[in-house]
Amino acid sequence: MTIRTEPSFRESVDLMYNRAVKLMDLPPGLEEKIRVCNATYTVRFGVRLRGSMHTFTGYRSVHSEHMEPVKGGIRYATGVNQDEVEALAALMTYKCALVEAPFGGSKGGLCIDPREYEEHELELITRRFAYELAKRDLINPSQNVPAPDMGTGEREMAWIADQYARMNTTDINAKACVTGKPLNAGGISGRVEATGRGVQYALREFFRYEEDKAAAGLAGKLDGKRIIVQGLGNVGYHAAKFLSEEDGARITGIIERDGGLFSVDGLDVEAVRNWIVKHGGVSGYPDAQFVEDGSQLLEEECEILIPAALEGVINLSNAERVKAPLIIEAANGPVTAGADEILRKKGCVIIPDMYANAGGVTVSYFEWVKNLSHIRFGRMQRRQEEARHQLVIDELQRLDDVMGDTWSMSPDFKDKYLKGAGELELVRSGLDDTMRAAYQSMREVWHSRDDVTDLRTAAYLVSIDKVAKSYHAKGL
Ligand code: NAD
Repeated sequence: MTIRTEPSFRESVDLMYNRAVKLMDLPPGLEEKIRVCNATYTVRFGVRLRGSMHTFTGYRSVHSEHMEPVKGGIRYATGVNQDEVEALAALMTYKCALVEAPFGGSKGGLCIDPREYEEHELELITRRFAYELAKRDLINPSQNVPAPDMGTGEREMAWIADQYARMNTTDINAKACVTGKPLNAGGISGRVEATGRGVQYALREFFRYEEDKAAAGLAGKLDGKRIIVQGLGNVGYHAAKFLSEEDGARITGIIERDGGLFSVDGLDVEAVRNWIVKHGGVSGYPDAQFVEDGSQLLEEECEILIPAALEGVINLSNAERVKAPLIIEAANGPVTAGADEILRKKGCVIIPDMYANAGGVTVSYFEWVKNLSHIRFGRMQRRQEEARHQLVIDELQRLDDVMGDTWSMSPDFKDKYLKGAGELELVRSGLDDTMRAAYQSMREVWHSRDDVTDLRTAAYLVSIDKVAKSYHAKGL
């Protein structure tokens, strides 16, 4: 398969799917059934703003209902279109299967540049969009549960949740109609950071295996590795922050809409983020070299490249010049099918989107469970756990007392051991476990089959197999 012209995003996803499914032995017809998008709803609605009627176009696509509810974010961007929403919905199906989140795949989008509207205008638009989707059960705790994506966040999710609750006043599970809500509106600790945190856990897991690092020509730890990040939004910011602050990696490049920043010594992620919030972009930031055509930094020397903005940024026009030996797809679809082929031939290892950014949907799953159970994680067991730990500490203290100078507890052991896990600790633990288990399932296929030479194909094999099995279980 040699791809010379750039396919659309959805075609790109299909090409990658086809490449994997050829290596499988699915019952006749099932291959196509899994690939196709079940339905895409297009809505055009009007909102009266600034003295006149404005018409907006939105989509909600349902790729697969092999499990319900279906799940997937809602994106606000001017480039939103049916092809994109369908590609993203398909990726959601494979992603949920891979990380064993019990959902089918869906995605939504609204063609809008949110920066052009005041907050109260965005609220009116979001509520109206939510109304249009909810009345068709395209927002519903048991059928279709959106989440944040590019251009949306906690604020929009809170409006959507409230809109649904107003329309379904007796639904005791109304809060579970959407995830990514703020904590005070039924959200869960750790959801905002979840996708970036998942990228960190994914890299940590990758770096645990000598064989996998060697495949990318890398060795050693994350400590000191040079990383270039594209997009310092929710996902890119958290990934860059955690990797630099907790793992010692050096963020040498940050690419934003208005250009890129470069510093061999490493950028201060928090300072850059604050600069963006204040000035609307990276230009003018004092402690780094400014590169006007930010996308050139995608081709800069580094050990790890993290595209965390939008799809198709590594394509036929620049793939040959990308030097990073390891790419982790924090965004959805940042590498086109053609670029994927070029990079694979060059020996570049790509940790695929359906795995790399699955932290978001994983913690969304926890939030949905929390909403349905109507209780915060850890509420019942935390103090009981602390009391049991206290018993151990008391015994150790007795030992400490009799041993004199020959033995004593390490200084911070007591505090650390005594603290029972709260919701945030439990969420992080569940996320870490999920990212590790999913990585292991991919790498097992990657290393055990001669016909599987990359992680993306391995990821597809694992997830398609799971989707196929649930079709089988349904008798289809
Ligand atoms: P976001 O809106 O918070 O951030 C996107 C960032 O990218 C912004 O800082 C924006 O300025 C920047 N950007 C936009 N166009 C750019 C360009 N041409 N060049 C450089 N930078 C550009 O969005 P997000 O939620 O962080 O999502 C980013 C990606 O991650 C998307 O592909 C999304 O589908 C994917 N994703 C997000 C989540 C989530 O939980 N938010 C979960 C899974 C996947």
